[in-house]
Amino acid sequence: MGKVKVATDWLAACAGCHMSFLDIDERIVGLLEKIELTATPITDLKHPPEEGVTVGILTGAVNNTTHLEVVKRMRERCKILISLGDCAVFGGIVSMRNFFDLDEALRRAYVETESTVDGQIPCSEELGKPIRVRSVKDVVEVDIHIPGCPPSADTIYYALSELLEGRIPVLTGDNLKYD
Ligand code: SF4
Repeated sequence: MGKVKVATDWLAACAGCHMSFLDIDERIVGLLEKIELTATPITDLKHPPEEGVTVGILTGAVNNTTHLEVVKRMRERCKILISLGDCAVFGGIVSMRNFFDLDEALRRAYVETESTVDGQIPCSEELGKPIRVRSVKDVVEVDIHIPGCPPSADTIYYALSELLEGRIPVLTGDNLKYD
């Protein structure tokens, strides 16, 4: 049997969830005997392969029109979609932007910050347009939710290990404990 293909991507996210994935540490060597990491920020390949992957993992909230495309493409190309981390599961800290007027938020971020000189709000046809922040499940169907900011490496390892055994991971106990 070939390796199980896994793709990951991030939306409006810090790198924390992917760092937590790498915090699996040496256990990742055992995992990589069974899975193939295709497109992911870790391999710096951008899109999941067209022929599809078994597991797709998204971190971060949906924050702009480019994210909408990324989420829909991942959903189309994976059998099992995992929403990883609070931002992906329910919008997390990114969704605080929804409490403000968008123009006001952009002006604050790109023009008015104390460290900014001659700031300018980015404006290019090549850039995604900001939208109201939402979670991944608000855009596409999600199969597995793994909350946490970030979820612990143990929880991520548990979830992937269960999937490799053909089981849907059930998160209880320590896997839902945040110190
Ligand atoms: S859930 Fe936390 S660690 Fe993960 S992307 Fe959001 S802010 Fe970063």
